[in-house]
Amino acid sequence: MAFSLPNLPYPAEALEPVIDKTTMEVHHGRHHKAYVDNLNKALESAADLQKKSIEDLLKNIKTAPENIRTAVQNNGGGHANHSMFWEIMASPGKGGGGEPGGELKTAIDSAFTSFAEFKNKLKTAATGRFGSGWAWLAWDGKALQVYSTANQDSPLMQGHTPVLGIDVWEHAYYLKYQNKRPDYVDAWWGVVNWKAVADRLTKARSGK
Ligand code: MN
Repeated sequence: MAFSLPNLPYPAEALEPVIDKTTMEVHHGRHHKAYVDNLNKALESAADLQKKSIEDLLKNIKTAPENIRTAVQNNGGGHANHSMFWEIMASPGKGGGGEPGGELKTAIDSAFTSFAEFKNKLKTAATGRFGSGWAWLAWDGKALQVYSTANQDSPLMQGHTPVLGIDVWEHAYYLKYQNKRPDYVDAWWGVVNWKAVADRLTKARSGK
């Protein structure tokens, strides 16, 4: 079965003014779609891999056939990363923004001392990534970690579970923020869906 582009869980303008409608339309309808199309193309010659979940494909990327490994890493990573990205955002003030609570707050406080320190760390990771990539909050099996990856590499490729990730490719912010990646990162907190992030942590901790 071929992989398919998931619908956005909200209208393209839902994240305004933090992320503008045109950026969302191009990012989802063209960039994410291209990752899905190119992943399916790469897997045409590997019927057994077509049946795997995207998470399994990325966890086992090192065993993918060498002739398609880079294509699966880039496009499979792109598909998984963006599928998560849409889900962990929501309209500002309507599910997006604010601060984490409950188990997620406790886990963040224990790993980074405070929510403010966590935000600093993620911003440093996001702005310090040279070129294209992602900054992550990931569960490593025992604790939360913040780091960045290049291109479309996913924490899944090193056995971690992505709990939250911010896309810092220029295509994610250039129309509205131009070269001001730090401004985009600061504004992005206003659309984070902490409920969705908390659910991802709960799942990661239970090993699912
Ligand atoms: Mn992107």
